[in-house]
Amino acid sequence: MRALICGAGIAGLTLAWHLERAGWEVELVERAPGFRDGGYMIDFYGPGLEVADRMGLRSRLFDVRHPVDEIRYVDRDGRQTSRLILTSTLDEVVSLLRGDLARTIGDDVRAPITYGTSVEAAEQTGGGVSVRLTDGTSREVDLLVGADGTGSRVRELAFGDVAPRYLGHHVAAYVLTDAELSRRVGTRYQLRTEPGLMAGAYALRDDRLALLFLRREPDPAIPADPAASLRRHFGGLGWILPDALERCPSPPALYYDRVTQVEMERWHRGRIVLLGDACQAVSLFAGHGASMAMAAAWVLADELTASGERATGGHRTPNGELGADGELAGALERYQQRMAPVIADVQGFGRRFLQWMAPSSRWRIVARDLMFRLAALPGGERLFVNSLSPGGHDLIRSSSTVLERDA
Ligand SMILES: Cc1cc2nc3c(=O)[nH]c(=O)nc-3n(C[C@H](O)[C@H](O)[C@H](O)COP(=O)(O)OP(=O)(O)OC[C@H]3O[C@@H](n4cnc5c(N)ncnc54)[C@H](O)[C@@H]3O)c2cc1C
Repeated sequence: MRALICGAGIAGLTLAWHLERAGWEVELVERAPGFRDGGYMIDFYGPGLEVADRMGLRSRLFDVRHPVDEIRYVDRDGRQTSRLILTSTLDEVVSLLRGDLARTIGDDVRAPITYGTSVEAAEQTGGGVSVRLTDGTSREVDLLVGADGTGSRVRELAFGDVAPRYLGHHVAAYVLTDAELSRRVGTRYQLRTEPGLMAGAYALRDDRLALLFLRREPDPAIPADPAASLRRHFGGLGWILPDALERCPSPPALYYDRVTQVEMERWHRGRIVLLGDACQAVSLFAGHGASMAMAAAWVLADELTASGERATGGHRTPNGELGADGELAGALERYQQRMAPVIADVQGFGRRFLQWMAPSSRWRIVARDLMFRLAALPGGERLFVNSLSPGGHDLIRSSSTVLERDA
């Protein structure tokens, strides 16, 4: 079986890893001109970490992680206003750069990746998909996978205009190398909030500093000059921000996007299937996106290879043969049925959390600071997570059930 995967991010690389081991012939195309390094810090846990375990990647992820054991809010002079020492909220959280997670997966992927290229057009023929790429070449494949993020081109081709749900915020991130700023921030997550604005920083190895900005904004349009927009909105907030923003890069080194969730009734059409943020984006408010993208890739591969085995009476064929169209359709539908309910729960969790990251008013900032203090009491962390978004703690655990075929 031949698969073309559009998007070499967390989901696309994980799927390639599994399909090629099941005997599929896999190729990836990626719009970025080269491998996307750095990005932003993510907390990686739950089903994604379980998948990484099954892929034998755990120890390498621990090698590249950046332990975060404290979250500290500061004022414009960098003085602490409240803090939370992180101990036992989750059994295991791996904090790392998105790029380091993708690289760890990608290091073990043998399938070719064509950078600077996307899908131009796709036509479903009798038994396959004819795909025309933006570099002028074409491919005939059995399955086209859109793992190309919230603005998915494959989604547009297969489903037309699907508008993601805008969550009223713009988000930006970049990594800066500066020994002095890194020393001032240290290996704790430091955050500065004003109504509608949040800026965070965390010191990485080698004098690097990961910066994150979140701003309430009713207009989803991305500014023409994102770096200038960040300087305008955050430059007057004191702390390390004037210095850090002076050296804010332009895209692509600067990640800048609107915060969205993607909700769709169908994730597949014929021999085209969507994966990861392209069909199930939960947003940074849910804190689960990379983990769920990896889980979805695992579930999709599981269903595709299980169908292959059913089609051949329990034997795995050298090229993952699936047989009739109906077997493929069944596998894609079971993949969606396994993933969609838990994604809806995670999206709901994210929407309930929305008001706390860049609180809209001073009283919310005061309320959050108070909750941080309560969280320091015995058992307070669980209470804290659940008071910000009810059910959050249990959801993180229960979402791992998608990995079991009969869950
Ligand atoms: C600031 C921030 C913080 C986050 N924090 C967390 C966290 O703490 N924990 C967590 O689990 N998740 C977190 N997430 C979410 C997580 O990063 C995403 O959900 C995850 O990366 C989704 O994986 P993906 O492979 O679907 O998409 P992506 O990782 O976005 O990969 C999509 C790939 O497709 C490529 N692409 C895009 N368009 C095209 C095209 N037309 N043609 C070809 N290629 C294309 C892109 O360049 C990219 O390489 C966070 C996200 C943000 C923005």
